[in-house]
Amino acid sequence: MQMSELHANRLANRIKLKDEHIITRMANIAEGLTDVIKLGRGDPDLDTPAHIVKAGQDALGRGETHYGHPLGLPALRKAIAENIKAHGGADYSPDEIVVTPGGQHAMFVIALSLLNPGDEIIVPCPGYNPYSQAAELSDATVVPVRMSMETNFTLTAEMVAKHITPKSRVLVLINPNNPTGTVTAPDEVEKIAKLAIEHDLIVISDEIYARLTYGNQRIQPVASLPGMRERTITLSGFSKAYAMTGWRVGYFAGPRELIVAMAEVNHAFAISVASVSQHAALAALTGPQECVEEMRKTYDERRKALCAGLDAMGIRYAEPQGAFYVYADVAAATGIPASQFCERLLAEGKVMIYPGTIYGDYVDDYVRMSLTQPVPRIEEAIGRMKAVVDTIRAERKAPAA
Ligand code: PLP
Repeated sequence: MQMSELHANRLANRIKLKDEHIITRMANIAEGLTDVIKLGRGDPDLDTPAHIVKAGQDALGRGETHYGHPLGLPALRKAIAENIKAHGGADYSPDEIVVTPGGQHAMFVIALSLLNPGDEIIVPCPGYNPYSQAAELSDATVVPVRMSMETNFTLTAEMVAKHITPKSRVLVLINPNNPTGTVTAPDEVEKIAKLAIEHDLIVISDEIYARLTYGNQRIQPVASLPGMRERTITLSGFSKAYAMTGWRVGYFAGPRELIVAMAEVNHAFAISVASVSQHAALAALTGPQECVEEMRKTYDERRKALCAGLDAMGIRYAEPQGAFYVYADVAAATGIPASQFCERLLAEGKVMIYPGTIYGDYVDDYVRMSLTQPVPRIEEAIGRMKAVVDTIRAERKAPAA
């Protein structure tokens, strides 16, 4: 008993258990409920397009059931290189690309390969939290750059500059960002890149949502900017643009000098990615691309429906410009912390959303709402949310005697 407590404490210190417990708590609440509207996870409800599924089935039929090339299927790496270039990215050769079982896995490979104990890694806050977890497991120091409504929750070069020290080694840029659904404008990305060159930083550029932007937003790939190819690791994957979360295919690309060693670490972790999934990913890139635009339009409609509902309730939010999330300030609207609001919304309204603290937010004010349900379900979720918001507002006006 004493021994297991010791181990538990060591583990808690090592991975700095933050808010995991709230997801567990919410999962426990949801367990006893029916008809929960799930706007929590970043997992599209849309199906993987049929031609991609068929390519996976065909691969299975052909017996593609063995280990593959450690860097990934050569044809897939060639297609990834062409795809990156076609979207304004850097010119990579297929041996500068490593296919991984999801982009998330790539974060750990990159952090464990690049970071020494004591190195500083600058991350957006709030931002997709596995970057911090990967850095902590590498005994690096996480330096969060706090973003706020003031810049629509986007990073600016000025904010990044304030956090650079002689120990800074890596900067993470997630564009569009998760959980905020916001976009760092191309001119700002250029300024951030100049800072990276000036201070000799490596940039991990997470462009997994780059195909999903709204209005006239555009994502500037970091590695194609002058002087950046040699110091950028571009991370992306198939989960979001092609609704392929369950296939588990992502990748990272970078200069050969860095990639050789990282490929070795990746091989030690994963050997290779499921062959069936890689053939499906190949079909995703080489097949018709209309499906991406159709999904983007679907998220755009949902985004508008959700924002209209929040507007009607007087809940402010960061302008959603990309990805499929809306980041909303429920604390200002209700007077209670966002994490508490999420639990009440689930228990009383049967709507699942996540508090921003899960993504490292430094204030417990915001919630992330995923656009992963059809418009009628989003409207239903808004109706349920309004009822819970009204109840909380009424309680706060007339506290129980
Ligand atoms: N990068 C960002 C910003 C994400 O939000 C996610 C998943 O939500 C990933 C990477 C990893 O996705 P996957 O491992 O499914 O490729």
